[in-house]
Amino acid sequence: MNRAPFPAPAESLDAVILSHAHIDHSGRLPMLVQQGFRGPIYTQRATTDLCDIMLRDAAYLQEKDAETENRKRARKGLPPMPPLYDMRDAEKTLQQFESLDYDEIVAVVPGIKLRLRDAGHILGSAIVELWLSEGGATRKVVFSGDLGLRDAPILHDPEVVHEADAVLLESTYGDRRHRSREESVQEMGEIFADAHADGGNILIPAFAVGRTQELLYLFMQHFDDWGLKHWRVCLDSPMAIRATEVYASHVGLHDEDAVALWRGQGGGLASRLEFIRTPQQSRALNKVRSGLVIVAASGMCEGGRIRHHLKNQLWRPRCHVVIVGYQARGTTGRQLVDGHAYVSLWGEAIRVKAQVHTIGGFSAHADQQGLLDWYQGFRDRPPVWLVHGEDQARATLAQRLQEVAGARVRIPQLGDVLDLGKLPGRG
Ligand SMILES: [Zn+2]
Repeated sequence: MNRAPFPAPAESLDAVILSHAHIDHSGRLPMLVQQGFRGPIYTQRATTDLCDIMLRDAAYLQEKDAETENRKRARKGLPPMPPLYDMRDAEKTLQQFESLDYDEIVAVVPGIKLRLRDAGHILGSAIVELWLSEGGATRKVVFSGDLGLRDAPILHDPEVVHEADAVLLESTYGDRRHRSREESVQEMGEIFADAHADGGNILIPAFAVGRTQELLYLFMQHFDDWGLKHWRVCLDSPMAIRATEVYASHVGLHDEDAVALWRGQGGGLASRLEFIRTPQQSRALNKVRSGLVIVAASGMCEGGRIRHHLKNQLWRPRCHVVIVGYQARGTTGRQLVDGHAYVSLWGEAIRVKAQVHTIGGFSAHADQQGLLDWYQGFRDRPPVWLVHGEDQARATLAQRLQEVAGARVRIPQLGDVLDLGKLPGRG
């Protein structure tokens, strides 16, 4: 899918609007530039800073992957394949970013106005409001982006939007309800207590951007009740460390109480927290059999240093793995959640003897109720197109939206076109 063609020629686009930095939203931008897109990429200011880290990292990984792949191809007598994109493409892309603040209205191109609202999902994440005018008529389209949870720590709540002629709504957790934050906090405390009694380690796969910072914040808040003084907390992800620095430089965008943490005043946590930067430091953790909490990317265990730790520890019954984020189908993380007895890492079958825990209440995504509530903020029940969710989640959410809110819901397929001229006017 990464190499799939774009729905329109890259050079024909006037502008791009990016909702947030997560790589499933930003990751193909350098391909767009490589294929001839020269226009502005509008996004929230903090997203620009996060993409500066993430797109360079993605380019680096693409180059490395191509190198490895091409060594194999050479041995088979095949010609080399270019990487999806390289560092030069990523750097060119970053120059096309146009940073916006939340709530300012800008004219993107004649006839199209844009406003970004806080989506409360990760730092800089935005709901996109677009006013499109043609021939004296205006239609307003709202794209939810990825929506965060209400009352989540660090970030503000997702803003409620009242007016739209069409809504594109994410549906990641459209078929699920999270357990409450309080229950999740308690569950986490029990895992820490059990793991301490077992004398093992705790592995937490986490997205480098967003989830990791939220975990650090929770560790600070619950330092005493989770017994963290017994643990070395290792943040083993260079990208997460840099992303944490970006969080620290945008203190205006999050809750007051998170600011202390970014300023290094994390109370007891400050003395137990270690930033693991080099591969050597990371490998040294392999020898430690107990007392480690390792937070490492990637969040779905598809890359990054977490895979090394899983390989080293999954077969140990005293190891605990805590899954705190969304796991897409087909990923190693999903296999762990589904209770597979073995997972494959670098072609080697690893027996899963570790105790795997899944905690939903720390999610960065609104659950079904959160999505329904957000939609019900709109007046006049605008038609909804469900995006960004697996089929089951979209089907379930569509049904709920119809039952609860009387919404007209559509489930588009990849490549479908939404014709705004055919939308009924509002009111
Ligand atoms: Zn996201």
